[in-house]
Amino acid sequence: MSDLPERLSLREVGPRDGLQNEDPVPTDAKVALIDALSGTGVGRIEAVSFVHPKAIPQMADADAVWSAVTRNPDVRYSALVPNLRGAERALAAGFREIEVVVSASDTHNRKNINRSTEESLDDIAVLIELVHGQGATCQVVVATAWGCPYEGDVPVERVVGVAARALRDGADGLSYGDTTGMATPSRVTRLVGETRSALPDVPLNLHFHNTRGTGLANVLAALELGVSDFDASVGGLGGCPYAPGASGNIATEELVHMVEDMGVATGIDLEAMIGAAAEAERIVGRTLPSQVLRAGPRTRTIG
Ligand code: ZN
Repeated sequence: MSDLPERLSLREVGPRDGLQNEDPVPTDAKVALIDALSGTGVGRIEAVSFVHPKAIPQMADADAVWSAVTRNPDVRYSALVPNLRGAERALAAGFREIEVVVSASDTHNRKNINRSTEESLDDIAVLIELVHGQGATCQVVVATAWGCPYEGDVPVERVVGVAARALRDGADGLSYGDTTGMATPSRVTRLVGETRSALPDVPLNLHFHNTRGTGLANVLAALELGVSDFDASVGGLGGCPYAPGASGNIATEELVHMVEDMGVATGIDLEAMIGAAAEAERIVGRTLPSQVLRAGPRTRTIG
């Protein structure tokens, strides 16, 4: 196996991406989950999103959640926003790290926010200026990077084009999202490779879904290319909005369990993360897809 990164920076997205795709849960349960996660050693937490409450009622209490969270100084907390208004709210709430989403596929972007990809990129340029003006950073999340539920495969050139435009407009980093779980290791190698060729020094975070069972294989393919920033969701919280009942996000504890045994440090206490996954399961009241939550770590013995 080629040289893997010595250390990963994981962003826990369960409280936002996860809970956004589950039935609404009480504010205090969200706060308890974020606080449980901040005690696991994870370095980054996507805490909330500032979206219109009519569009996503699950996040209507974002301000209340954030003001009740016990801030751990060792954790970088971020907020996801769909537009300028969301960025204003996130900055007013005190967030220093903002993520804004654009879909590489036009149809997906139009269905989400009624704008073409190009129009969204125009808006994002203005948003980045606003965020920078307040001394905060902005990561541009490119959704449907490995496929669109309406258009099917999205050409690599198109994804890299969107990424290049966002960087030109001042993005501090990029995250590619496999929104539909259509990525496979060879597709990961191709898109990451083409991105590195076109944009050599770009900070690149990857967000995989396990909808079709390739989530951790995709992580491994990216690790072999030296990618060290990944999203994951405790317990695998958050279903797949396009296929009811299917799993969405990869589970944080599964990722930690795999890479730590390969000598790649995450800074995360696996047992603490499994504990947080059990808490997440209690909160949403359904069985979560994480297999490490079910089976326990490989080092756990009976008796
Ligand atoms: Zn996701």
